Amino acid sequence: MLLTRAAVRIRAFCTYPRPQRCAWCHKPLVHDFAVHEWLVKRSGTRMKSYTPDGTQVHDLIMLPQNQVLMHHSCHDTWGQTHKAKRQSLEEAIHFQSVSSIGQWYVDLWQKHKLSVPVGDFNEGLLPLDPFQWYEYLLTVI
Ligand SMILES: [Zn+2]
Repeated sequence: MLLTRAAVRIRAFCTYPRPQRCAWCHKPLVHDFAVHEWLVKRSGTRMKSYTPDGTQVHDLIMLPQNQVLMHHSCHDTWGQTHKAKRQSLEEAIHFQSVSSIGQWYVDLWQKHKLSVPVGDFNEGLLPLDPFQWYEYLLTVI
């Protein structure tokens, strides 16, 4: 099922415990927020709509494991920086288990055969199993 951008925003906002905060500045979020895909970017999978097993790529990456909330201004200014990736990882782990994130990430490649997304953060992580992924996360946070 392909969710609209608005539905994704509402689901992400409701998923996080209150008070929701910005992954960048940690100030409260009220009405002004963006859903930031912190690990696998839509732009990195833009050319593919479906995986080889017929799953919509959009449905695989627009999930809480891959999303944090940010103010629009923080997202627009800092969202694509390496520091934002680190802070988003910390924020995601605050609300999601590392094993949940790791299993989701590994499933993208091993179960759904999604190719490596563009971005230096993802280099070298392709064949990791969930335990290896967990160890990797511990080294970067
Ligand atoms: Zn902010």
